[in-house]
Amino acid sequence: MANESWDVVIVGAGTGGLNLGSLLAAAGKRVLVLERQGHIGGRSISARHENTVLENGIHGLILSGHQDEVYRRIGKTLPPNANVWKSSQILLDGEWRDFESLLAGSLDELERVLADAVYDRTYDEIRALSDISVERFVAERTDDAATLAWFRYMGWLYGGTKYPPTDMSAGSLFCTFKRRADNDPSGKLEDLGYMVAGGSGAISPPLAEAILENGGEIRTHTQVDKVVIEDGRVRGVNVECQERVIPTQVVDTEFIEAPVVVAAVPLWQILGVVSEDDLPPWYVDRIQFLSKKVLNTWTMTYLMDSKPPFEETELMCVPKGSSSGRPWVAAVLPYAEVEGQYAVTCFFYTGWYEPPSTFEAARASVRGQIREKFDLFEADIRDAFPEIEANCLWKTRSVGTSSILENPGNVGPHLLSMVPEGVDGLFLVGERTQEAEIQGIYGSAQVALQCAERILKP
Ligand SMILES: Cc1cc2nc3c(=O)[nH]c(=O)nc-3n(C[C@H](O)[C@H](O)[C@H](O)COP(=O)(O)OP(=O)(O)OC[C@H]3O[C@@H](n4cnc5c(N)ncnc54)[C@H](O)[C@@H]3O)c2cc1C
Repeated sequence: MANESWDVVIVGAGTGGLNLGSLLAAAGKRVLVLERQGHIGGRSISARHENTVLENGIHGLILSGHQDEVYRRIGKTLPPNANVWKSSQILLDGEWRDFESLLAGSLDELERVLADAVYDRTYDEIRALSDISVERFVAERTDDAATLAWFRYMGWLYGGTKYPPTDMSAGSLFCTFKRRADNDPSGKLEDLGYMVAGGSGAISPPLAEAILENGGEIRTHTQVDKVVIEDGRVRGVNVECQERVIPTQVVDTEFIEAPVVVAAVPLWQILGVVSEDDLPPWYVDRIQFLSKKVLNTWTMTYLMDSKPPFEETELMCVPKGSSSGRPWVAAVLPYAEVEGQYAVTCFFYTGWYEPPSTFEAARASVRGQIREKFDLFEADIRDAFPEIEANCLWKTRSVGTSSILENPGNVGPHLLSMVPEGVDGLFLVGERTQEAEIQGIYGSAQVALQCAERILKP
């Protein structure tokens, strides 16, 4: 017997769950969002720390228009842009080169390859490139060094870990490009990403407000034990309803009824809320396969008390760190609150195939490897920009699983659909389903828009 009944229960109050919840609540559905942690926003949170904003992970948002569209539909205003990255410099043969000058003689060639990759292709034609790497696609079409350098940089910046980006899917990168170009009045790729005022954590509160204003509810500190599925149909969820007095306690659960349940958790957490007994075996196998194919983002954040050696609108790319051998980028974050102070971020990516795995950080040996990796990254940063460390008031290190690595073979049609196989009334909107053509927050907004349409259709 259920104690309560809702139209839709959403598991997880990350931006995926909040985007969808706000759309459904605004459309008249009675929505309950259940979140096991004490805060909303999931991985997309920002903390105020010693005169600046410290991001849990986010570095840049992709201007594809989807998050703006969610806000428009719920009658809210997206926090304003704090900064847009407009240009990049790259360290080639020991010399910093800006892409504008690097590409000066190659603009026609770049446009030709971009037209072939993005502008002249439909989305379906781009998706058909999912199993080819960016490197292969571009190398087969041009031998112009500057054009190659530009695509290599983009293939890495948008989430490949290799340089050249042999592990970044051409279909995936070019879908992101096309979404961005379609959202730009010029129809071209005019910027590289942006940050909202207050940090990415500022995106969630208005979404939560819309849920509450429209009769919905958000319960934090509420762990969903499992989605209840009977005869291939969702019935609701079981939630833990007791505080643990002792750590080994198996707590009681209670049933909340709902004809529609949405697992708004990342792919690698789905089996934590949906039992594999309720899904087809091949589908469970796919979840398990994809759950391992993650991308980790490593960040050093510094607060400097003098101006960094680059501008706020610039990204500075080192394709091969002097100690780590890895590509990385440095940028200014527009969040420092005191005149004369500057927040700087430097970030690196690692893929599922290289240790250490953040999923195994409970092991002391793995934590040791994580610290060693950061030591290498810091040595890279000291070598390229000694003034950052010399003029920093404090620094922090952070690493987390940011998404599924967009390898050829892991993305596009290989991802799971937001409508899972074999269960009526169950939807997936967490990072990352087939319907998300862009990574991160904007991807979660894109899926939420489609999922809301599907749930609301008569
Ligand atoms: C280091 C890092 C860097 C990143 N960089 C970027 C970037 O530059 N740009 C960008 O757009 N995105 C970036 N992202 C990704 C971005 O944070 C996510 O895409 C976004 O937050 C959407 O996440 P989500 O809603 O799918 O999942 P999450 O934010 O993980 O939310 C899922 C929620 O479900 C909850 N939950 C899980 N299981 C249960 C349960 N059993 N019961 C109740 N609740 C449960 C979790 O506690 C969590 O709050 C980055 C992430 C990280 C970690």
